[in-house]
Amino acid sequence: MAGPIAHLDLDAFYASVELLRRPELRGLPVIVSGSGPRAVVTTASYEARRFGVGSAMPTARARRLCPQAILVAPDFAAYREMSRRVMAIVRAHVERVEQLGLDEAYLDLEGLAAPRAAMRRLAARIAERTGLSASVGIGPNRLVAKVASDAEKPRGFVVLTREQACERFAGAPCGLVPGIGPRTAERLASLGISTLAELAGADEALLGETFGARQGPWLRARARFEDSDVVVPVRAARSESRETTFDRDLASAAQMEAALRELTTELCDGLRRHRRRGRTVRIKVRLDDFTTVTRARTLERATAEEAEIAPVAVELLRAYAPARPVRLLGVGVSGLEPAGDPQPATRQLALPL
Ligand SMILES: [Mg+2]
Repeated sequence: MAGPIAHLDLDAFYASVELLRRPELRGLPVIVSGSGPRAVVTTASYEARRFGVGSAMPTARARRLCPQAILVAPDFAAYREMSRRVMAIVRAHVERVEQLGLDEAYLDLEGLAAPRAAMRRLAARIAERTGLSASVGIGPNRLVAKVASDAEKPRGFVVLTREQACERFAGAPCGLVPGIGPRTAERLASLGISTLAELAGADEALLGETFGARQGPWLRARARFEDSDVVVPVRAARSESRETTFDRDLASAAQMEAALRELTTELCDGLRRHRRRGRTVRIKVRLDDFTTVTRARTLERATAEEAEIAPVAVELLRAYAPARPVRLLGVGVSGLEPAGDPQPATRQLALPL
């Protein structure tokens, strides 16, 4: 049996970095947001969240909800630097780490003698070295770990079995589960399904009729906290990615594929510059209802070639077939290794026969 998985998520990361630099803002509602008509809240401090302000909310709406909020422009260079420091601490504690974005990671805890104690130590070490707090969820799979880390933020520490997760979140709205966006939740509600327990016990045929033969059963499995995704076990886990939010949502497959190819070109430029190549190709898609999904495939061997990465990225996008206009696309590779490393086959040949 696979070991437990932890999800570690820094609390209100961008806002927390700003508060470290500007302690005079502590205790005040702070919103980190870009400007422009499509600006969205990237992070809100917990004081701002009390007014109903949340991540990904249009900034204009956030200002209406909390007019006294202090708006801070994002400083991504500072966030990347802080993220690098945090993830270095994480990797010093846990070998198999899959980093997602700047402020969260899945950790494979298999083989750790005392996984809970190890995670408590890790969170304490991050706080001590950086001044940032993190929330931790531990569970038998990524889904349970992710929902658990979110359950008692900030400074949460929640350990759940799959069954406990089902019980604890039985009355929660379906949208609590990552992958179930507002539009899907709305369609579920029209079937009379509004809680996770209702979805977990829903009639499969009914779900299949409404959502199709693949998404129907998948939704029910999500509500049961079943998840087969594993932590992509990347040694010295590093990844490189490119993503972009479009000024106007993309509606046609041709537009999306062209954008994805362009991003792949940028990605491969970066990989070659850093003399790296990667094995796992990942795409990220955010729909206009903010449903965000990632899809990944691991190749036979590491590469930095557009000719190899782009077709995989496009294929992953076609397989997902976004059902709604797309506002963000991303492509990345993980499992990075230096370009020019000897292949395992070469090493095997070097063994005495
Ligand atoms: Mg976070």
